[in-house]
Amino acid sequence: MSVEKKYALDWIEKNKNMIVEISDKVWEFAELGLIEFKSSALLADELEKHGFRVERGIAGMPTAFVATWGEGRPVIGIMGEYDALPGLSQKKVPSKETLNLGAPGHGCGHNIHGTSGMAAAIAVKEAMEKHEIKGTIKFFGCPAEENFSGKVYMVREGYFSDIDAVISHHPSTMNAANLKSSLAVNSIKFHFYGKASHAGASPEQGRSALDAVELMNMGVNYLREHVIQDARIHYIIEKGGDQPNIVPSYARSWYYIRAPERDQMEFIYNWILDIAKGAAIMTKTEMKPEFFEGIYNVIPNRTIAELIVKNMREIRLPKYSEEDWKFAQKIAKTITPEMKIAQLKKSKRPGWEKLVDKLMDDEIPDPWGEGEISHGSTDVADVSWKSPTVEFETATWVLGTPGHSWQNVAQSAVGLGHNSLIFSAKIMAATSLNLLMNEEVLNKAKEEHRRRIGNKKYKSPIPPENKPPLDVWEK
Ligand SMILES: [Zn+2]
Repeated sequence: MSVEKKYALDWIEKNKNMIVEISDKVWEFAELGLIEFKSSALLADELEKHGFRVERGIAGMPTAFVATWGEGRPVIGIMGEYDALPGLSQKKVPSKETLNLGAPGHGCGHNIHGTSGMAAAIAVKEAMEKHEIKGTIKFFGCPAEENFSGKVYMVREGYFSDIDAVISHHPSTMNAANLKSSLAVNSIKFHFYGKASHAGASPEQGRSALDAVELMNMGVNYLREHVIQDARIHYIIEKGGDQPNIVPSYARSWYYIRAPERDQMEFIYNWILDIAKGAAIMTKTEMKPEFFEGIYNVIPNRTIAELIVKNMREIRLPKYSEEDWKFAQKIAKTITPEMKIAQLKKSKRPGWEKLVDKLMDDEIPDPWGEGEISHGSTDVADVSWKSPTVEFETATWVLGTPGHSWQNVAQSAVGLGHNSLIFSAKIMAATSLNLLMNEEVLNKAKEEHRRRIGNKKYKSPIPPENKPPLDVWEK
């Protein structure tokens, strides 16, 4: 291991307690997307304390920030998220016990996500300073990954336009730097306006907005036969009227439309807009679409993924304490074997069968999944169109743990989560230093990025007039 890397990893090891404390604080704050005021300030303040220049409230979001140290090229970016999920408040125990009723919880482990990135950025800076390494290290504080895709606004404002490579880490049940893509998505609400009347005495006077919502859904459900296999369309009815004896004058649905490529998604999206118009015509109501968010599909990068795996192997997996194993065993009892096998199989990881009888992932596999799609969406994708980007995963949760669950919340602030936090911070620091110091590997990653993008163009999926919905939690 190079002296520069060793210096950065030693810094993380020495500051372990401080790093864990910050992650646990963010876990306790458990703030929802776009209102992560305390969490983002905590991370930004720490970076500032270590000499980073911090620009707060960027891209129209008070909780977005970028922290910069150094100057000139190369410029390496590390991303961190810190938003929680509604209703998932849970104690740090291996059984379902609510901490604050109805409150949010870190069901996706973003307390670790933000803190591991922050710690890595500071460790890299320390090594750069000590060993006079040229270049710039940036930490991007990225809000609202779960709901409003903060990064897409940051990309639109050009914050990722001049970065040589970007890495980030996500807690997971597996150690992985995989090559899968994700689905492009549009999120849109459909408002229908009809006319209220007495549903018993004068229904002929009424025009039902709810009828329009239902007919639109029916149209879309017939459309399903004619879309590509990997497309996903899901909706909810947010408002369907007030009570049955009033013809609903207002109704609203909310759709997510997903497909592997942006243009495939847009084709289906435009068809659905036509179906909505058709539903309004059929019911003599008015329809107004309200665009919420849009995301691209991920462009993977094998060069950086391989570098990450190499660093994982060099740094070696964390060692769990007796207490950690006990906690893991208790969590494992809440997961059925069927759930676990289904999750492992879905990962398509070569040799996943070997993990069936294990509690925690104890391997570091080669990057896998070239040409595969994971059927979710992430705003990391939009960054990946701008520069070579990899978001890798480390085992934080017991194998088979479902996503966005109370089990995730519990495991993200105990020994299991802390181990993953320190391990991932080290991997990110080591990988950033490789990219800063090894021009050849950085150029290879950039060349691969250019090749994968080809002649495709990135156009922000958010209409120019759309701003981050800052008031969303007041509604
Ligand atoms: Zn997440």
